[in-house]
Amino acid sequence: MLKQESFQVDAVWQRLQKEVVEAGLCTHCGACVGLAQGQLQMQQTVRGPLPVQLPDGKPFDLDERAWAACPGKGVDYPGLYRYLFGELPQNWLIGCYRRTYVGYATPEAVRRAGASGGVITQTLLYLLETGKIDGAVVVQQGRTLPYLAESVIATTSAQILAGAQSVYQPVPVNEILGEMAGFNGRLAYVGLPDQVASLRELQRQGHPGATKVDYVLGPYVGTNMYLEAIASYLRGNGVNSLDEIAELKYRDGEWPGYLMIRLKDGRVFKAEKFYYNYLIPFFITNSTLLSVDFTNELTDISVGDAWHPRFEAQGEGFSVVVARTEKGEALLREMVDAGTAVLEETSLEDALSMHGHMIDFKKRGTFIRLAWRQKMGRRVPYFGYRPVTMPVSRKLVEMVISSIFAVCGTSLARKIVEQIPLKIIGPLFDTLRKTWKNLSKPTKRKGLAQVEFEICEE
Ligand SMILES: Cc1cc2nc3c(=O)[nH]c(=O)nc-3n(C[C@H](O)[C@H](O)[C@H](O)COP(=O)(O)OP(=O)(O)OC[C@H]3O[C@@H](n4cnc5c(N)ncnc54)[C@H](O)[C@@H]3O)c2cc1C
Ligand code: SF4
Repeated sequence: MLKQESFQVDAVWQRLQKEVVEAGLCTHCGACVGLAQGQLQMQQTVRGPLPVQLPDGKPFDLDERAWAACPGKGVDYPGLYRYLFGELPQNWLIGCYRRTYVGYATPEAVRRAGASGGVITQTLLYLLETGKIDGAVVVQQGRTLPYLAESVIATTSAQILAGAQSVYQPVPVNEILGEMAGFNGRLAYVGLPDQVASLRELQRQGHPGATKVDYVLGPYVGTNMYLEAIASYLRGNGVNSLDEIAELKYRDGEWPGYLMIRLKDGRVFKAEKFYYNYLIPFFITNSTLLSVDFTNELTDISVGDAWHPRFEAQGEGFSVVVARTEKGEALLREMVDAGTAVLEETSLEDALSMHGHMIDFKKRGTFIRLAWRQKMGRRVPYFGYRPVTMPVSRKLVEMVISSIFAVCGTSLARKIVEQIPLKIIGPLFDTLRKTWKNLSKPTKRKGLAQVEFEICEE
């Protein structure tokens, strides 16, 4: 009897290994590790951090909720929309929402510290200062190793501020679930769309750590990169080890910011955001290629860069902000009244138009990529919905995009790009990106607003 039970529980981990990790679908969220009571750990690999069993490798009791909470196998979006919002989205491009805004944190130091307008950090600070929470799950760069980031429960304003900025590498945030369960107080939580989906699933299942979270915030996420991107950038500058790094920031300085790497020998490398974006096609993570959620649809409040000429010309930092739940909307209103944030309501059309390409990349591109992957006999995550039709012209555009990623992802292409100085590859990539955006815009935008989605079975 005992033997059979331990086989059944071990089967959850075996299934995750076979159907998610070995299938290349792990999103690096960390939830299985957070639920494994010390039996699993995340291990850095060239394909991002992946869960592995501790070296002694005995059968162990992995919480059965780990399967449901694993975003790598897919996310039950329709079920989670109904659980959180009581309905399906009116608009599937942005998910369920109540209002959209453009704005920024009022304190200059917070606005400057943030990746865009500092709205996420300011919201956490406000929640802590008004006693609505006792701690916030954020990521902090360089806590143990300067080039890695990890999740922490920040319980002071200084710790929350230290978590500001975007980290463009996968951080297994949900590793911290065990610590959350033992935390004495109420929490806010910041995560990427897959991590938030995992947390919401665990809330639905009554996990003691997840149910301590009263406010869920999260950034928009277009693409993420493997840590190897930073290693490659450094090699291109004649530095052969990540261990040389003393400090790493992905969005330092004034919005939109720049990559800043300070080495232990005192040298500092800086690359403007739109220049170091050249690394994306070479090191894009598989999970961002297979994600259908750009605007972090399962949060209370989600935040992105307000990419619009009017705001970009001003610099300083502007965020586009989506209030999704009633309490998210009430909180933002309270912050404006208290003078801690400036938010101007904007129309849904304006909010969506700031990110037309990325929305198309996720809401049509991902579904094409999933269909192709499935045709090749490879496992795909299940999201519970899909577009009803897909124009041939959009599939042709996807062929170009996917071919670029496939070629750039080869080790030869990665080696070649390391030989090209940033002052050439940066502006070249930026020009190519803008040209491609303009060329593909008619096809990518055509019909996007009218795409119909349907609920589907696995
Ligand atoms: C990988 C990634 C890709 C993104 N892609 C886009 C995009 O395509 N378009 C767009 O408009 N915006 C994108 N963003 C969001 C944007 O960079 C800002 O995070 C967003 O505008 C919020 O800005 P803010 O100043 O309010 O956030 P801040 O006040 O700087 O707070 C950011 C919060 O996010 C958390 N965080 C940062 N990185 C991670 C991470 N890797 N994992 C988990 N939590 C993290 C921090 O702990 C912090 O609490 C991306 C962000 C990330 C992390
Ligand atoms: S996606 Fe998350 S839960 Fe699933 S295997 Fe990867 S780390 Fe574990």
